[in-house]
This record gives sequence, structure tokens and C-alpha cells, in this order.
Amino acid sequence: MLSDSVTHVKGVGEKMAEDLARMGIHSVEDLINHFPYRYDVFEIRPLRELVHDDKVTIEGRVIYDPSLTFYGKSKSRLTFMLEVEQVAVKAVMFNRAFAKKHIQKGDIVTLTGKWDAHRLQITVITYKKGKAKQQDQMQAVYPVKGELTTRKLKKVIQQALASYASSIDEILPPFYLTAYKLPDRKAAYQMIHMPKNRIALKHARRRFIYEEFLIFQLKMQLLRKWKREAIEGNAQHFDKKKVKEFIASFPFTLTNAQNKVLKQIMNDLKSPYRMNRLLQGDVGSGKTAVAAICLYASVTAGRQGALMVPTEILAEQHYHSLKELFGDRARVTLLTGSIKGKKRKERITQIRNHEIDIVVGTHALIQEDVTFNNLGFVIVDEQHRFGVEQRRVLREKGLHPDVLFMTATPIPRTLAITAFGDMDVSIIDELPSGRKEVETYWVKETLLDRVLQFIEKHIRQGEQAYVICPLIEESDKLDIQNAVDVYHQLEAYFPESIHIGLMHGRLPAEEKDMVMKKFANNELQLLVSTTVIEVGVNVPNATIMVIYDAERFGLSQLHQLRGRVGRGDKQSYCILIADPKGEVGKERMRIMSETTDGFVLSEQDLQLRGPGDFFGKKQSGLPEFKVADMVHDYRALETASKDAQEIIDNRLLKTPEFQPLLKHVENSIQANEKLD
Ligand code: ADP
Ligand code: MG
Repeated sequence: MLSDSVTHVKGVGEKMAEDLARMGIHSVEDLINHFPYRYDVFEIRPLRELVHDDKVTIEGRVIYDPSLTFYGKSKSRLTFMLEVEQVAVKAVMFNRAFAKKHIQKGDIVTLTGKWDAHRLQITVITYKKGKAKQQDQMQAVYPVKGELTTRKLKKVIQQALASYASSIDEILPPFYLTAYKLPDRKAAYQMIHMPKNRIALKHARRRFIYEEFLIFQLKMQLLRKWKREAIEGNAQHFDKKKVKEFIASFPFTLTNAQNKVLKQIMNDLKSPYRMNRLLQGDVGSGKTAVAAICLYASVTAGRQGALMVPTEILAEQHYHSLKELFGDRARVTLLTGSIKGKKRKERITQIRNHEIDIVVGTHALIQEDVTFNNLGFVIVDEQHRFGVEQRRVLREKGLHPDVLFMTATPIPRTLAITAFGDMDVSIIDELPSGRKEVETYWVKETLLDRVLQFIEKHIRQGEQAYVICPLIEESDKLDIQNAVDVYHQLEAYFPESIHIGLMHGRLPAEEKDMVMKKFANNELQLLVSTTVIEVGVNVPNATIMVIYDAERFGLSQLHQLRGRVGRGDKQSYCILIADPKGEVGKERMRIMSETTDGFVLSEQDLQLRGPGDFFGKKQSGLPEFKVADMVHDYRALETASKDAQEIIDNRLLKTPEFQPLLKHVENSIQANEKLD
């Protein structure tokens, strides 16, 4: 059985088992699933195709006995001639005097080494007597630890594959193997560890990629189904008329896209199924308006709602804008870390007694000693900054509210079906009409003077500007210093009539709030800030966004920052100050200045930086695939996603043919839930 301990494999002793355990390899199954991370290729190709200075493999007959010369203290050089394709080739081997005894005139030898095309000479790295065997052409190289070597590991893996071959059962129904011309599972294992050639390896990889994606997609789609479980009393019977009146009170009419997603969310609210939905919409697309309407709908159904945001500044902004929108339609309160003592106690009591309908706060608001009376709806803004904790916390409190996650980062489709494949997705893919595109320029620091003149001109016209300094790691002292330095420079540069504020993560909450308020009231015309300003902040009179060292940011983040301007009716500008060294950096600056479409940018970002960096390293929430790469192999991912949908829709997992696959999916879900 594949679940046997590795010690059952011939050649694995106690010491080796320990080394293997350190790499997480305990069973035979673990062992054969330890895939090579690359392959050395020893392909024998015609002499004329060999490239000078390349590492090559040749095969030929030794023409006369090798001659050995010693030099230096203990160095030696062995040379001999061999005939390859009727051409005489010279072979040179250093410091392997012993080989003289092995190699004789008339022998067939296979040599791998560095090729000198001008002298027709090979400097030998490895040699072997006899013809090259097929499986010698590609050699697997494994990640190893401790005293293990790739050679030892390869030997025991091959041993395991040989003695356990009959235990490697197929898990994909034959239909898929035929449809996609995939090798069967046993063959694929053999081919990935001992590929005969590149083509065989490619097929083995194709098989594992599809298998990984299909299992993953089945898992996500099953989880999605389960998370949508029907809960008694969960249906929210909101007051349609009141909601309509509320919408009519807005100073604008909703866009088609807003109406579309509103309908999707309202349907979820009405149904007994628990909502688990992701709302995507570019900055300024009007998500907050949609959120307000949904929260209000829930309130008319007699429930309480919560809006959770990543920072206190945002919490306060949302609190004020909701209060203004709702008027006396709903009782709103704010709960953040800086609200303490009696005030806090009072609010918590009001929430418990349902004297409050809607609570706005940072994510701490569900984690602390806050008890809701009848929580029906939770909105989590900028969810990837929170991690995956909330649902668990809520579940542990015995609460099953409808949950809507909102994000302003347009998520490329490939990531959406992987990172958020267990959620329903709504997209606001349209901006309110009449918005002016933010004009974006990329300049080098040598032009800083002109940039500052540009800022001054616009401030004199009554507008405001942001200057953003990069933050590499949050709460990094150096970066704050960076912002402080820029602040002092600008203070010295601009006349006193221009008031400059400074904002960074280390400021006490009250001070941040005060700076923000002053900027919002145009008491400050210029705000120097680290990226704490990034999400959500809304000051329509600000028309200029200057970003220092812009090459340090990802495209999505730059797009977020740019979204802070262009929120009013005046023409806005984004100025990227950057001097990227590499081509990729230059390309990013070019793309930023050419497009304002968040989805285009996020696709580009994904292509340029890869999925791991897309959300930032910390809480990517991305699955790790062994063979598959979701960017590179996105076609296979889409195919697997479609197939998984079909399998679930047609309830195929219950059929006998799908049992082995189902088992793998269940194992994968279990592994996942442990993390959750
Ligand atoms: P998001 O949260 O998606 O970044 P907001 O909801 O903050 O966007 O909306 C940005 C601005 O657009 C706000 O000032 C809001 O009042 C306004 N707005 C929202 N929806 C519309 C609409 N349908 N028509 C015109 N303006 C709108
Ligand atoms: Mg918003």
C-alpha cells in the first residue's frame, strides 16, 4: 500500500528515513510525490548542432589508449581521442588519473562536458562506458536536505516506483484521459521521475497539472456549495418600498452595473442560503453606495449589520458617510480601538440591546467582547488585508450572517477562480458616467522641480495634492523617516501660505484623524503620506497624486493610490517619480501611464509579478500547486474549472467511477479545514 512507511522501501534505512521525515516524507506515497524540481538533460545530438561552450553529451569509440600527464603538485590531465560520427574528437579529463585504467582503445564511451567547437574538444565532467541509455538522457534533480543526495533519493524513488507500481491506481475517470490525451497515473509517475525525453515529461506534467487543478476546483466548488448551506430563519424579508425610497434619496442614479450586483446581493439576502459573496469593483465604481443599500435592506428586515474596514481612518470616514446617507433611517455607531472606557461600554450595551442597527469599525469589532442582538449582515471591506479569520470567529460565536466581501483590487479571472473559488462573485464593471480619466505621467527625479511647480500652480487654483512616499514593510522606521524627510523638504520649498500635513502609520489615531479632517476641509493643501492613505479615503477636491519611488509599488497598488484622485469633477493628475533599473520596472511605469482600466492593470501585474506577489506576500491566501502554475497553465485551470462545474452540476461524484477522485478531493478538503 502507498501508505506504507518509507522504511518498507529497499535501501531506506533508519538514518535515511530520518532525513526523509525532515522533508515531510513519511510514506511511500509522500516519496513518489516528491517531484524533481529540474532535470539535467544529456541529449545526444549531432556534432554540427553542438554549441560552443555548452554542456553537451557525446558518444563515440576510443581511437587509441589515453595518455596521462601530471603537473603541479598533484594535478593530472588525461587525454584521448575518440571517433564520433567519423570525426576525431579530443577528450580531456582533469584530476581523474584512475580513469586511465577504465578507458581503452576500442571502448564505446558516453561523455558529458563542456564543448569547444573550434578545437573539436570536450572537457569531460562525467563519463560512462558504453552507449547512452534512453533514460540517461534526462536526469531528475530533487530538492534535498541533510545528508541526502539527489543520487540516493533518486535510487529509492525508483525502487519505490518499481515495487509499488501495482498500487498506483488511476483516479481520473477514463473519459478525461481520452479526451485530453493524458497518460495514466502510473505511467505519469514513472515519466515525471524518469522521463525518456522532453515530450514524455511534458505529457506527465500535463497530467499532473490537470489532476491538481481538477481536485482543487472540485474542492473549492464543493466548499462554495456547503458554505451556501441553508440556515433556518436566515432569509431576510426586507422592505422593498423603503429600500426603493432610500435609493431615490441619492443625489445620483445607480449605474447599470450597480443595479446588477444589487440584485444579486438582494437575492442572497432573501434566500435562506448564507451569502458568501465577493464584490469586486474598481476604485470609484460606487461599492460604498451598494454596501449602504444592502445594510439598509437588512435593517428593514429587523436585523443588525456590521461594516468592517482595515483602518480607523476608513472606519471613521465610512461612519460619517453612512450617517449622512441614512439620516434617521438607521441608528449607526462607530467602534474602533481608540473609542475606550465609558463611551465604549455604552455603545456595546446599545449594540447588545439592539438600540443600534449598524456598527462600523475595524475588524476587531467582531473579535472582542461585542455581542450582537440579531446580526444578519456583515460587510468586510478590502478583504485580502484581513485574512481568513472572520468567518471562523463568527461561526464560533454561533452567528451565521450573510457575508459580503468587498475589494477594490480588480482580480484577474485566473486568481478569482483560485483564491476566491469558494465564493460567489459580483463585479461592478462600469464607472459612473462623467468621470474624467486621471492623466498619468512618468518622470525621473531630475524633473522634481517642475513637478513641484505644477503642484503649486494647482494649489493656487484651489486644488489639493497628495505626495506618497513608499513603505516597504509596514511600521518600518526607515520609511517613516523617508516621509518625514520629504515633508521637511516640501515645507522648505513651498511658501508658508501652502499648508502641508504629514501622515504615517505611527501617528496616534487621533492625530491621523485630525490630519485627515484638516485635509478634507482644505485646511491643509498638501498631504505627505506613506501608503496608509491607500484605501478608500475620499477627498474630491484633491486632484494631484505624486508618488515617489513609484517603481517600488505593484501596479495594483499604484492603481489604488491613483484612485484617491479623480473623485471630483475637475481634471486630475497622477505623477509617478521613478527611475526603474530593469525592463520590467520600466514596462510597469509605461503601462501605468497608458491605461486606467483596473482589470487590464491587474492582469498585467499578475503577468509581471506572478501570483505570489499579486496580493502582497503576507496574506495571499493562494493555494500552492505542486506542478501547476496558475498563470502559466491558466488554460488547464479554466478547463478544470469547467469540468468541475459539470461534475458537480450532474452529481457525478456519487457515481462509482468517480469514487477514487472523490476520495482525493475529500482529503484535500480535510487538509484545508485544518488550516481554516
Ligand atoms: P468605491 O467605494 O467603489 O471606491 P464609492 O462608493 O466611494 O466608490 O463612490 C465614489 C464616488 O462616486 C462617491 O463620491 C459616490 O458618491 C459617487 N457615486 C457612487 N455611485 C454613483 C453613481 N451611480 N453615479 C454617480 N456618482 C456615484
Ligand atoms: Mg469605498
